[in-house]
Amino acid sequence: MESAARGRSNGTADSERARMLREFLALNDAACPVCGYNVRGLVHQSCPECNAPLSLGVTSENLSIGPWVLAIVSFAMAAGFDGVVSTVLTILIIANPPPIWIPYAVVGMFMTLAIASLACVVRVVRKRKRWAFQTRRIQWRWALLCLGGVFTLHACIGIAFALLAN
Ligand SMILES: [Zn+2]
Repeated sequence: MESAARGRSNGTADSERARMLREFLALNDAACPVCGYNVRGLVHQSCPECNAPLSLGVTSENLSIGPWVLAIVSFAMAAGFDGVVSTVLTILIIANPPPIWIPYAVVGMFMTLAIASLACVVRVVRKRKRWAFQTRRIQWRWALLCLGGVFTLHACIGIAFALLAN
């Protein structure tokens, strides 16, 4: 009885939302969020071009994923690079243990960097909500800082070891 009433009120809310969507699109240009087709004047609740179901909602530019993805990609690239380098060096060292300490230090450094980069990936992914509290401009600033920081750190370490090896 109660669930039937709830079902009926959900149905009413759904048709109300469909009506509001039609009314909004009767007056406004809007791009389909999936394919970009202009859905102004839409009569059904799905995109005529790509058939994606559409709904009217409240959104925020803070949720645009560009800067967030750039931050993740920056750390993921570093984790991948450091992970591969430390694995290859570890195999080389096991196959032919060198008498000097520098190769061991290089492997240790790359392993540390790989783990730290991976930890940063996990942190950025898990802090998605807190990330979205920043304005888009600040998000881009953070993302570029992550990218620049990763490259600068790797360049400095590369130069330091190159100088040490000579
Ligand atoms: Zn579409």
